[in-house]
Parts: sequence; structure tokens; C-alpha cells
Amino acid sequence: MAILSINNLTFRYKNKFVFDNFNLEVERGSWVTIAGPNGAGKTTLVKILAGLEKSYADITIFNKPLNKKNMYDIRREIGFVFDNPDNFFACETVEDELAFSLENLGVFPNTIKKKIKDVAKILKLDDLLKENPCDLSGGEKQKVALATALMLEPRILVLDEALLMIDVKERDEILKTLKEYNKQKRVTILSFTHNLEEAIYSDRLIILNKGVITIDGAFPEVFSEERVMRKIGLEVPFAIELSEKLKVYNIIDHMELDLERLVSLIWK
Ligand code: ADP
Repeated sequence: MAILSINNLTFRYKNKFVFDNFNLEVERGSWVTIAGPNGAGKTTLVKILAGLEKSYADITIFNKPLNKKNMYDIRREIGFVFDNPDNFFACETVEDELAFSLENLGVFPNTIKKKIKDVAKILKLDDLLKENPCDLSGGEKQKVALATALMLEPRILVLDEALLMIDVKERDEILKTLKEYNKQKRVTILSFTHNLEEAIYSDRLIILNKGVITIDGAFPEVFSEERVMRKIGLEVPFAIELSEKLKVYNIIDHMELDLERLVSLIWK
């Protein structure tokens, strides 16, 4: 069942068209990565979904049309995490930042405390709870922004280059954590990125270029179109390239995207 559907989206900035009759359906509980080079339209699409840009489209989320009347209810159940968390923090400590939205909703302090503990554990933020979010590194700030979104237990998590500043090792751990979260809580993840490595745990990968879906398929089979990805300027992850070659030589029998597992398969 579709949790989100966009029909006939046409959008332009002044006289520059970004989308012309764009359509997309996202299944409930799936993890969909929308990847594309700079200028593809990713941020514009996120802004439209967040109600920050107005569009004339038929957009339905949680079976409700996205319009002025429903915007607040719909947005309450979507966690948006943007690329630059600097403009985002309102509180003096990470702990207060995590509590902020739930306090505004009148949630009991004990419930909030427990949630902070759980989310901090998931994202390994325990040591940062008393820090000022503005003093943290870029990667830490992004983790706090993600944690803030998880505090509200969203039905859809929208990530807009949300892991860009987190170092590779930690990013991979967060991606794994998000996959568990996606499976256990049936949270739909819609991840926008220029980095195909972030698609590793997706169910579906969509390649967007100049406002048009050029590739759309199950992951990782969709990588058979790697030439198209290169052509539009996307870097194909090393594990994908290597897997492809090892399959040709019958050294492995399936695509393996996790480099550690790939290495152990080769050494078997
Ligand atoms: P992406 O996030 O994939 O890099 P964007 O959604 O930021 O793509 O941009 C899509 C297109 O819209 C690009 O050609 C970009 O130059 C243009 N664009 C983005 N924001 C604005 C704006 N505020 N005014 C005019 N053009 C814009």
C-alpha cells in the first residue's frame, strides 16, 4: 500500500522548470533512496513535501491530500532531517534539544527522559547529551538532528543528505541502525542523496536527473544500469563494481554490497 503518492507534479522557480509532470509512489515500510547529481531536484522535492515550496500537484500522504488544512497533521508524522543542521538548534544542550518537540506536545517528563535514553543509545549520543549542539562537529550535529527526528517516532523519515558530514565508518553504523529501525517499526524511509553508497540498505533505488526519474528498481539489481549512473555523474560504489566482476568469474554468486562481507566471501 502506498504511504505517499505524488501525481502530476509540475514545479518551477521563476522561469526554470524543475519538475514537469513528475509522479512517484512509495510503499509503506519501504526504504527508498532517491539519488541524483547536483541540480537533479532532490532538495526541491523535499521542500515540496515539507510544505516549504508550494506546488500544484496531487500529493497524498497517509491517505490524506497534502494541503493547507492537513499540513500540520501530516508533518507531525514525518521526520525531516536536512543537510545543514546549523540553523536548526534552539536549545543549549543536546538533551534539551531532544526533549524540545515532545515538551511542546505536552508529553510527560518521565516518558521524555526514557525516550532520550533510548534514542541516545541507538545513535550513541550518551556522551554528548550535556554538550551545546552548536559546539559539536558537523557529523555530531547531523546525528543530533537525526535523533531529534527519531524522538517523535515518525511514520516517514525523510533524509536530505542527512549523513553527509558523518565519517564513513560511523555513517555505515547509522545506516545499519536505520535499517533495523525501518524493519522493526515499519518506518518508511525516503532518503535523498548524491552518494550511492548510502543506498546500501534500500529496498528500491531511484535515480533522478534534471527532475526526471531515469532509473527505478529494486536494490541492488538496479546497479546493472551502472553505465547510466556514470553518465549522469554518479560514482558507482567500489563494492558494486567489485561484486559485478567477481560474479562474472563465478567467485561469488550474488551482489554483496557490504565490503566486509564481500572480503569474507572471497576468502571462503
Ligand atoms: P539537488 O538538491 O538535486 O541538488 P535542487 O532541488 O537544489 O537539486 O535544484 C534543482 C534545480 O533548481 C537546479 O537547477 C537549481 O539550480 C534550481 N534551483 C534550486 N533552488 C533554486 C532557487 N531558489 N531559485 C532558482 N532556482 C533554484
